[in-house]
Amino acid sequence: MKTKFRHGRRVTQAMPIFRINRPVLIIEDQRALAQMAEAMLREEWGCEVHVAASLREARQLLETHGTEFIAAVCDLNLPDAPYGEVIDLVNKYGVPAIALTGAFGEELRSMVTKKGVVDYVLKEGVNSYEYVVHLVGRLHKNSSIKVLVADDSLSARAVLKHMLSVQGLNVLTAKDGYEAVEMIEQHPDIKLVLVDYNMPKMDGFTFVLEARKRMGKDYLAIIGISGEKGGNISAQFLKNGANDFIAKPYSYEELICRVTQNLEMLELVESVRNIANCDYLTGMYNRRFFFDEGCEVYEQTKEKGLPLFVAMIDVDHFKKVNDAHGHDCGDAVLKHFAAQLSAHFPKELIARLGGEEFVVLITGENPQTSCERLEAFRLCVEQETVRCNQKDIAFTVSIGGSHTLQENLDMMLKTADENLYNAKQNGRNQLVA
Ligand code: GH3
Ligand code: MG
Ligand code: MG
Repeated sequence: MKTKFRHGRRVTQAMPIFRINRPVLIIEDQRALAQMAEAMLREEWGCEVHVAASLREARQLLETHGTEFIAAVCDLNLPDAPYGEVIDLVNKYGVPAIALTGAFGEELRSMVTKKGVVDYVLKEGVNSYEYVVHLVGRLHKNSSIKVLVADDSLSARAVLKHMLSVQGLNVLTAKDGYEAVEMIEQHPDIKLVLVDYNMPKMDGFTFVLEARKRMGKDYLAIIGISGEKGGNISAQFLKNGANDFIAKPYSYEELICRVTQNLEMLELVESVRNIANCDYLTGMYNRRFFFDEGCEVYEQTKEKGLPLFVAMIDVDHFKKVNDAHGHDCGDAVLKHFAAQLSAHFPKELIARLGGEEFVVLITGENPQTSCERLEAFRLCVEQETVRCNQKDIAFTVSIGGSHTLQENLDMMLKTADENLYNAKQNGRNQLVA
């Protein structure tokens, strides 16, 4: 549990719906294929798709939309561009190109990879387009991923940086192990490090050891790289805590496959973590995560002598919402409420403790200000309605607060709960702190 929640990774809405808000360009002269790709992309990513049937049409669309496109899916054989000329056009606009072709000879493959494409795909039916759809999703995810390249050789850094940039990744560089450690400290959101073995000042092995003191394998992937023979370098990298190893010389494709595999592994771990820590209905953190993290927040706040405010929030007469409007509307109310709470307390630790009961942990703020913010939130809930089954549902919440630092978080929660009870007894729709 080295890095959970820290380093700016915290999310209040932990499970957003994944959509791509940039358009994709399809350049394909066979209409049926273009239509299939378009339908699949729209269905999977909900994104806008533009179709060009020739190089000329593609040029027009690129003129108008330029770098808006997240990717261009390019048929290498077009009526007015029979030999992959379309890649040059797309590259000119800085749009990542995915090359598609009916047949791939070694010569064409080498020509296309030299031009710099994200990947090339053989047109073999639906499977190929599923692969393309997946690649577009990968590019989109990559655009928010930071990768670090650590190598003492300027040319090796430049080559790696270029290859990774073609994949839409944000690439940072370091020229030795020391600089690399500094980089992961300055950019704790770096997801992957590609590190050379032989570097001055601090070599790759030592870097891995240092990096692992700071970030676990499930938060930061490290791939060791070396061209040196003997010395069991790959095993040593892995034993020190690297996730993977690539031997020089490597091909562009091998590099990209390994990079992607490591990033996907991290994402898988993250999604499992989200499932374990988040509530399915609202996407908010669940009770388990709250107690895990809340206790740490409590200890840190106490240590620094900062104020801490615990607020328990409960929807009023929620049973009546279910009874009057149905369970699905009850769910809609909870989702709406969760979104309101996230919007009002974006930096605080908030969670759904269960049913219609939520908690907010506010640190380092004057209790008076916290009360004012909670009161503003209460008023906002009272004033908004939730649309469900053609009805506008209004609801209110009661809030119990506690801001006197007690022996532990549990005791503060107990006080907040007592105040919540008092708020209910006093007629609901109010804050008692
Ligand atoms: P009070 O103002 O005293 O808090 O009354 P209340 O009706 O809100 O409280 P009570 O604890 O009596 O009822 C809570 C209800 O919330 C009962 C339960 O069926 C419902 N509930 C719990 N979880 C969910 C959920 O995920 N979805 C829906 N629709 N209802 C839920
Ligand atoms: Mg070197
Ligand atoms: Mg209630």
